Order: sequence, then C-alpha cells, then structure tokens
Amino acid sequence: MWTCSSCGRRFNKENQPHSCKTIPFNEHFKHKDKAKELFDYLLDQITDKIGKCEIISLPCCIHLFGKYDFLAALPKKDSLEIRFALERVLDDAKLTASVPLSTKTYKNCLVIVSTKDINYELLEILREAYFLKS
Ligand SMILES: [Zn+2]
Repeated sequence: MWTCSSCGRRFNKENQPHSCKTIPFNEHFKHKDKAKELFDYLLDQITDKIGKCEIISLPCCIHLFGKYDFLAALPKKDSLEIRFALERVLDDAKLTASVPLSTKTYKNCLVIVSTKDINYELLEILREAYFLKS
C-alpha cells in the first residue's frame, strides 16, 4: 500500500498516477437530497454489516475505500448509481451495465432508487466486492 502525501489516497502501486483533486463531499449532493438519503443509508448498512470504509470524494464520484477502492457512488437527481467489481456478471434487474475489467473481473453498475433496494441481497453482493481483493 502506498499513500499519496498530497491527497491522502491509498493505492496498491507506489506512485500510482492519479489526479490529487478532491472536492467537498457535500458538493456531490447539491439539490440531490434523495441521493444523499440513499448514500447515508447505504454507508450505514455497509459499515454495520460488512466493514469499515473511508469516503474519498473525487470530482467524478464518491469512492468507498474498505480494503481497497471497492465502490464508486454517483449521485443522480432521484437515485444513486453504484459501481463495483465482481468476479461474475450480476443477474439483477437493476443492473445497468456490466463491463469486463480483466479476464476475471467485471465492473457492475446498479441504480438504487429506494432504501428498500439496499436489502440483504444487495449487501451480500457488496460483501463479495468488499472482500474481492483480500
Ligand atoms: Zn494524490
């Protein structure tokens, strides 16, 4: 693990190229109260049922860092899109995209519209993502 001394982000590779730019967390949720509610609930559930994570607020999205950068959240007007890696393609109606990242892993994108979507099933999937690189 390498920690960038200017932005504090951690990476697997030393001197990993990246942008050090971060933005205030609340910027992501301007006029997006619903997304904020969903994000807070999701973070609570992950922290409670899976493990601790840090919030990294980047200009493009919010990253959650558990054992690695395991989830990206993109606040939308009335929903929250999340992206995470798995070693399989998800079979889920809410799945919007599944893109191969390597021969073994796929990036899955899901849209959460209600706290009811953050259920046992989703948390089990996120647990898989959280521990993928451990
Ligand atoms: Zn940096």
